Amino acid sequence: MRRKSWRSLYQSCADTQDTKTLQRRFAAQRTGLQKGKRRVSMYQAFLIKYGEIGVKGKNRHIFEDTLVSQTANALRSVDGEFTVRKENGRIYAEAQTAFDFDEVADALSCVFGIVGFCPVVLLEDEGFEQLAQTVVDHVRQEFPKRDFTLKVITRRARKNYPMESMEVSAALGERLLEAFPELRVDVHHPQVTLYVEIRNKINLYSRILPGPGGMPVGTAGRAMLLLSGGIDSPVAGYMIAKRGVKLDAVYFHAPPYTSERAKEKVIDLARTVAKYAGPIRLHIINFTEIQLYIYDKCPHDQLTIIMRRYMMKLAEYFAGQEEALGLITGESIGQVASQTMQSLAVTNEVCTMPVYRPLIGFDKQDIVDIALKIGTYETSILPFEDCCTIFVAKHPVTKPNLKSILKSESHLTEKIDALMQEAIDTAEMVRVEA
Ligand code: ATP
Ligand code: MG
Repeated sequence: MRRKSWRSLYQSCADTQDTKTLQRRFAAQRTGLQKGKRRVSMYQAFLIKYGEIGVKGKNRHIFEDTLVSQTANALRSVDGEFTVRKENGRIYAEAQTAFDFDEVADALSCVFGIVGFCPVVLLEDEGFEQLAQTVVDHVRQEFPKRDFTLKVITRRARKNYPMESMEVSAALGERLLEAFPELRVDVHHPQVTLYVEIRNKINLYSRILPGPGGMPVGTAGRAMLLLSGGIDSPVAGYMIAKRGVKLDAVYFHAPPYTSERAKEKVIDLARTVAKYAGPIRLHIINFTEIQLYIYDKCPHDQLTIIMRRYMMKLAEYFAGQEEALGLITGESIGQVASQTMQSLAVTNEVCTMPVYRPLIGFDKQDIVDIALKIGTYETSILPFEDCCTIFVAKHPVTKPNLKSILKSESHLTEKIDALMQEAIDTAEMVRVEA
């Protein structure tokens, strides 16, 4: 069934309803279950609020343009069509068709750079009377129970409007109290703030939904995430992407010691991270032969550290291929033997690129809290072995010494280089999208 445009829906309906009713109605329309003739009022647009970008100097437009394109990308997957545009330092996502409110809210809440978004009614200026009537309708429709305190804030970006901001707020407040005597005004701590912004069109909104904050992905270069099936690394990727960094990822597996399910789990995790970070090129590297060779030649209490050094080297190779500027891991000081300060120093020694460890000072519970919030936790706790856990010694060194590690590594002949090359040559690349 072809969707009607927002405007035709708006015009074809008979009496006002709250947002939930609207959502039900649009859902019904999508499934062809049109019920009764009601007038549906609905937001035409979302006003996107952004934080840190606003303080950028000359480069501000680059950040804004990236936010526009990231917002448009995120809205491509929702039910409904939108155009996203920039106007006088504001970003609007304007609906061209009916849309599913929850889906749109979900999509916008994943776009880094957005600190908040407001479902907004855009009005032509047809005089104060018309504005007052629309404001009263808006409050009636948006808040079926009106036993709250309210404040009206008016901003007049268009200075030729015949009334001053304070005057508009006061007059609208008065109209609202007349229409809804149960409302109370509280200018200090209102429960609801109604914003009226007089611009090219008048913007009317009363709800600010939270965005994730951060910077738009694509404004800060690329980095290579070492993504395992654990709880930490997806969170680490999320945190660096939040600062505007585009992600690629590497996953080391060890078939047949690790299963196809373990690999699927990592792809699923990458897919969840991609909801925020955009498409991820995931390189899946077969680490089995390297692990077996190290297992054969090196002291077992040093296995984890030596394997991690080889992982870092390979990750750095793929990072170079992707023109990434750094590596990202989910390490946190003291979490396990390979994450003591000494272990981290020895692992880091092979890296020539910066290694970003955004969780370095986090307790596990802090990391779990973020994993729950971003939706990776449920997948991370699925019980599939990842390659590190299989070859772990009972008593790994916790304070490795670089000299002794280098001595152990000297037992690895040039065969290790051939195995590394083979791992590179046989790597599989999967483009993962949300
Ligand atoms: P996670 O940190 O993802 O929960 P983990 O707690 O098991 O996994 P470690 O095994 O100590 O952590 O690994 C530390 C970091 O090394 C991980 O956060 C991840 O960045 C990287 N890493 C570990 N195993 C792999 C792997 N199989 N493939 C890619 N990266 C890995
Ligand atoms: Mg970890």
